Amino acid sequence: MRHPVAHGPFDGLRLDSSFVDTLPADPLETPEPRSVARAVYSLCMPKAVAAPEILAWSADVAALLGLESHPEDPQLYADVFAGNRLLPGSKPYATCYGGHQFGQWAGQLGDGRALMLGTVIGADERRWEVQLKGAGRTPYSRFADGRAVLRSSLREYLCSEAIHSLGIPTTRALCLAGTGELVERDMFYDGHPRAEPGAIVTRVAPSFLRFGHYEILTARGEIELLRQLVDYTITTHFPELGAPSPETYVAWFDTVCRRTALLVAHWLRVGFVHGVMNTDNLSVLGLTIDYGPYGWLDNFDVTFTPNTTDRGGRYSYGNQTRVASWNLHCLANALFPLIGDAKPLEASLAAYGEHFDAAYLGMLRDKLGLPADIGAADSTLMADLFDCFGEAEIDHTIFFRRLGRVTAAMPIEEALSELAESFYAAPAPLPRAKLADWLLRWQARVGGPEAEPDVQRKSRMDAVNPWLIPRNWLAQQAITAAEAGDMAVLERLMQALREPYVEQAGFADLAVRRPDWARSSPGCSALSCSS
Ligand code: AMP
Ligand code: MG
Repeated sequence: MRHPVAHGPFDGLRLDSSFVDTLPADPLETPEPRSVARAVYSLCMPKAVAAPEILAWSADVAALLGLESHPEDPQLYADVFAGNRLLPGSKPYATCYGGHQFGQWAGQLGDGRALMLGTVIGADERRWEVQLKGAGRTPYSRFADGRAVLRSSLREYLCSEAIHSLGIPTTRALCLAGTGELVERDMFYDGHPRAEPGAIVTRVAPSFLRFGHYEILTARGEIELLRQLVDYTITTHFPELGAPSPETYVAWFDTVCRRTALLVAHWLRVGFVHGVMNTDNLSVLGLTIDYGPYGWLDNFDVTFTPNTTDRGGRYSYGNQTRVASWNLHCLANALFPLIGDAKPLEASLAAYGEHFDAAYLGMLRDKLGLPADIGAADSTLMADLFDCFGEAEIDHTIFFRRLGRVTAAMPIEEALSELAESFYAAPAPLPRAKLADWLLRWQARVGGPEAEPDVQRKSRMDAVNPWLIPRNWLAQQAITAAEAGDMAVLERLMQALREPYVEQAGFADLAVRRPDWARSSPGCSALSCSS
């Protein structure tokens, strides 16, 4: 008996199995690597690990699932969320998807190290798929081991919860479990692998369906199966769109375009760079999904990407809008056989740009505290600020947050010293003069005749300009401590990030510019793809 069932606190969980009951399964149930045709998923067991241990636990996510906020029997939970015991009624499975990676069709990818335990129906009737990431090989593991290291699992756990607290749609994370096993990784792909502690993150989302789930079916000419999956997606996750039909398929695609536009606008707002926006890493629910070599802007630089594998900067900060649109084109191509008419799909793709522009403009307006009636002069004002950012090293997060403190009538020298915290080096005279000029124009605009009081504008700005973001060097400090057995650094960071828009004096050491040591340190500025 390799997989005993966990009872006690898990007996009350309600599992829904409509995905596996409705959609066709791969007839084989072994983890041997293979091409899985005419099926959407493969039943597959997690591989038990040596010494499961809960390293971090999110009481918030536990509450969504109806689990104890502080497990009374942590070992039982560790056994479940490291894959050594099953939830009652669980039939774990890995799903089949394909994807375009760095612009090229990559064929079948699939859940190579993710295993779905099942869908939990929460107390409020919401559906939550519960997935282990790093639970061992599946038919989709190709040449890899199906495992994950502590470093990358901790990053996913930390960032998915932080992105949620920042008000951005995302998959969530219930816990981080240590496996007590070592995993070999060549962190920089330079021929120097080392053994690292293994870990598993339990991810939770209404659905982990990606663009690639639909692309693979069309690529294989499995159009009836595509229809089945799209119908399932709409009836389960988009019931408001009505009964599946070609019109509903178009409406669904349009919704995906809108949600993706909103998602990317949010990412830009907080300075987030996903790092690997392949079509297998884009959610049809518009969630941030698959936290890998992600990063955050420190000094504002549109070309920034933390992903060392992305030499051309395809997934850089400033390219995310365009590449999301490119990915939506791939999804449109995948859905075309169900619709048979390109025009409505093209209309939704065009509307993506409009949704993005409207969302981004609205967010930028609030970031800058501008009045509602923005016009052409405001667009110039916005563009000129980005010019200033290009000429001096200015921290994106700190600049916007500090701008909220500048009042409309503040003398310019005082305004500049409010912003000084955001400068990586004192700006040279010319950029400084340019910034001073920009500030005067901004003050004139926000202090105009119909102006909102300073205090009111500040609170509007503070609601969209985070005080704290989980910068890579902060994550790296939590990783270094965790690798030495100390989880307190992560705990503290998680606690601070629960309210990222609130200035918390006790956490002031976290809300600072990237320190010099982190500028080119591994894990802080440079990350590679899958680990
Ligand atoms: P990612 O770059 O994490 O989005 O992964 C791309 C593909 O590689 C997905 O199909 C993953 O499941 C697979 N993959 C990544 N890392 C591993 C691993 N350690 N073992 C098995 N499959 C993996
Ligand atoms: Mg992925």
